[in-house]
Amino acid sequence: MKLMYKRAVSVLVLAALLVFGLFVFTIRYISSGENWVQYPVNQHLYKNGELINAGEITDRNGEILARTVDEERKFNDDRLIRTAVMHAIGDINGNVSTGAQVIYRKKLSGWDLLNGVYRFDVLRTTGMDIALTLDAELCAVAYQAMNGRKGTVGVMNYKTGEVLCMVSLPSFDPSDPPDVNLDLGSYEGVYLNRLLSVSYTPGSVFKLVTAAAAIEKLSDIDSRIFSCDGFMEISGVRVTCPSKHGDITFEEALADSCNVTFAQITLELSGTILQDYAERAGITASVGFDGIRTKAGNVDCINAEGADLAWAGIGQYTDMVNPFQFLTYMGAIANGGVLVSPHILSDNGLLSRIAVAISKNRIMPGSTAEHLTYLMRNNVVSNYGEQSYGGLELCAKSGTGEVGGGRAPNAWFAGFLNREDCPLAFVVVIENGGSGSAAAGPVAAKVLQAAVNRLTGGQ
Ligand SMILES: [Zn+2]
Repeated sequence: MKLMYKRAVSVLVLAALLVFGLFVFTIRYISSGENWVQYPVNQHLYKNGELINAGEITDRNGEILARTVDEERKFNDDRLIRTAVMHAIGDINGNVSTGAQVIYRKKLSGWDLLNGVYRFDVLRTTGMDIALTLDAELCAVAYQAMNGRKGTVGVMNYKTGEVLCMVSLPSFDPSDPPDVNLDLGSYEGVYLNRLLSVSYTPGSVFKLVTAAAAIEKLSDIDSRIFSCDGFMEISGVRVTCPSKHGDITFEEALADSCNVTFAQITLELSGTILQDYAERAGITASVGFDGIRTKAGNVDCINAEGADLAWAGIGQYTDMVNPFQFLTYMGAIANGGVLVSPHILSDNGLLSRIAVAISKNRIMPGSTAEHLTYLMRNNVVSNYGEQSYGGLELCAKSGTGEVGGGRAPNAWFAGFLNREDCPLAFVVVIENGGSGSAAAGPVAAKVLQAAVNRLTGGQ
């Protein structure tokens, strides 16, 4: 009897261990199964470490950007399109961490808790495919317009949040990836999507943030006359302008990008207020959308004084801005102060329309947005030249971000079309491109004309 009892206890202990083991495994399967399946040794999904078995990725027009054919991952047939959307889609080895093939690999692999990656053939093609909001042809236009220069182009619809264009250079053909170690200069940071994962010294595009603060905090700003001698001494440090602007209004100072005027405005506003407006604009935060997180920018001027503070108000000092975040800020100004959350996964279903409806966030009063829109339109008409942007109803601000070290400044051009039929916000950054409007303006013009033609059905 005693022996029987001992055996029964042993069996019970073993059974309890088995149940416990199953329990632990189940918990770990639920929490980590998704990651186990992604190990490159999993031959259902990978061959020689390369992703092979995954769903299709298409653009907004059904253009195939990546798919699996005979256990091989194939990209678009056109080399230009493949190269232009490489950062958005990702390369075959998963080096681009923000590429759709990495971010959405769970859906692309068709993995779920009950079935793993196993699918009956009849179901195999369903549920694994992804459509993006991108317009691949427009990305190709942007890539070509950059003409090999490093930098980025982004375009989004500010009413719906759809990202239409996302291009980063340098890039490469993912069907024929180069050995980047052979030319580290040309391929510097090639796996970074510069729209999402880089921040740059903004230069004068940042004056829009300072202008927003001035509009709300300095009630007589429109009737003031400032004076620019081409430079301003602040405690022995010089803030300089490209030229002597003389007597100048606020409106003219933004259009001519007068540093002296904006230095005076910034000093009057104080570092605390400038910091507050930079944070309201979202500059210092990361943008999260559809599983992607952008690099946060930087503004650090609460304790800055004198020339440091003045330079912070004109987009220098320690200011850093992420181009995608700035694109969403442009969209918010265009949209009457309301920021619509961006998205890159195309889903026209009811749920996504509800998501857009609840993702609206007012970041400035409508009156401030209207005022900035007026000023940005005036920038184009009175300075950049309406003839270069005919019919676009362009509102914009250029920036020339000094980077030091004897290198040419970063050229920025950002803004939006004030058009109901083409509600597009955009950003262009060319690294070491020189003057903002001269270098980045023509890229914006080409991309925006193409975008309008594609949206309105003209050619
Ligand atoms: Zn000036």
